[in-house]
Amino acid sequence: MLTRIKGARIVDPANGRDEIGDLWLRDGTIAAPPPDARADETVDASGLIAMAGGIDIHSHIAGANVNTARLLLPEQHRAHARRPASTPLSQVGWTTFETGRLYAEMGFTTVVEPAISPHTALHAHLELADIPIIDKAILTLLGNDDFGLGLMRSGESANAIRDHVAWTLQTSRGLGIKVVNAGGVAAFKDNIRSFSFDDVVPYYGLTSRAIVKTLQKAVHEAGVPHPLHVHCNNLGLPGSFETALMTIAAAEDLPLHLAHLQFYAYGEEGPQGFSSAAPRVAEAVNAAPKSVTVDVGQVMFGQTVTISSDVLRQFSARGQARPKKYAIADGDANGFGVVPYEYRAGGFHNAVQFAAGLELFLMIDDPWRVFFTTDHPNGAPFTAYPDLFALLMDRDVRAEWVSRLPKEALAVTTLPSLTREYTLYEIATMTRAAPARLLGLADRGHLGISGRADVALYRPGKDIAQMFRAAARVYKDGELVVRDGEVTRYRYGRALNVAPEVEASMRRRMDEYYDARYGLPSDFMRVPEEAVGRPHPFEAVACAN
Ligand SMILES: [Zn+2]
Repeated sequence: MLTRIKGARIVDPANGRDEIGDLWLRDGTIAAPPPDARADETVDASGLIAMAGGIDIHSHIAGANVNTARLLLPEQHRAHARRPASTPLSQVGWTTFETGRLYAEMGFTTVVEPAISPHTALHAHLELADIPIIDKAILTLLGNDDFGLGLMRSGESANAIRDHVAWTLQTSRGLGIKVVNAGGVAAFKDNIRSFSFDDVVPYYGLTSRAIVKTLQKAVHEAGVPHPLHVHCNNLGLPGSFETALMTIAAAEDLPLHLAHLQFYAYGEEGPQGFSSAAPRVAEAVNAAPKSVTVDVGQVMFGQTVTISSDVLRQFSARGQARPKKYAIADGDANGFGVVPYEYRAGGFHNAVQFAAGLELFLMIDDPWRVFFTTDHPNGAPFTAYPDLFALLMDRDVRAEWVSRLPKEALAVTTLPSLTREYTLYEIATMTRAAPARLLGLADRGHLGISGRADVALYRPGKDIAQMFRAAARVYKDGELVVRDGEVTRYRYGRALNVAPEVEASMRRRMDEYYDARYGLPSDFMRVPEEAVGRPHPFEAVACAN
């Protein structure tokens, strides 16, 4: 079956294209035009914009944290909502289904769940497998676990640490490694309630800096395409910009990704001792090597729930819960904290957070290095992306939002003075080309020949948010799944993962460790293909060595 998408404006930054042209789809990939230019099916796309399927690098859509949030907030969970008796269970109510549907309708086709403990990876993959349409991946957590910190404490070789990283990725089927408040979560178990980049984890005698640097190098040496993904210390605190600056400087010449930077873009100036330090943080990002990348974690207004493996931070934030309930759990490596929260446009702090995120977007120069996230659901649900695109592409929309914010909050930011407007090309770079490169996914994020036929068509109009909220057409692996903003066909994607090589000696050590500590084989946490119960649920992504 050869499909011709005719006459769309093709916005494809990976190939340097922004022009009217045709796309040819055959057998799930983008094909070269045939010599006779004959197609089995021709879709008139004149007036539409074509981009590769969107890629979200950081969105909490599965796993223990997410499910605890569902249990804590039944009033927010669609599974508890009334629905007509005739509605198929599979289409309404199950939020795994909603997750796939809502992403697809916005033209997103790949999503990374960024914080899964190795011990809960099987459950996370089972849940991800239930999310329709999109491909997905997990980042696996290290950097607060006893075994890994033990290796660093006893000064074991870089090879041993790299092998532990590789073993963890293989066992959990992760696409990359994330560290959350490196060492801070382990220190929390010793009743430490404040932990910075050069503080020392009791018992292990390691600084957060040492843990980040060691893991950064190990991930790189294991050949994993995605750099170490860092959730810094001191999330959300006034003055946290200093932590961001220190972490950026510590990256040196090896790749490093800093997650949800907005939550570290705070100074201590102004009458309330809370201000935006986004200009200084953006300046540091602009000055850093190109291999340092960030995502923003934009705050948008409304009810949400914060869920994080940063137990120390969530424990400290429990008093701010809206509504007043929370769940905190601890365990080896990372536990989790779930704290519901409502961001209010009229609130001083929330307005500063909103402004700081937009300042980062507008002041970081290189669209290949700054990524769209709301850290779903921490800053806002991912369904806020269309509004966020409109805020950045249209300064009139921005001015309208800004007019609703408290004057005293705006006074401690530079947002009202910023005039930049994002282009479609920049949006396509940040949501397609750059994330594919950052994750090592050569088959997507572009519309070049032999690329995966994940394609989103949008109908441009004055309402930019509406254009991105309801894609005109979306193809996943060449199959039409969305028309006029609604899913027309449900199918299942795959989980992308890396499998770097592991020395046999590390396998033996992990067996001994889990046997001694838990009386379990280390295999108890392995994610087997057959557990997922769908044919070929996983797809390997190449490592560099
Ligand atoms: Zn996150």
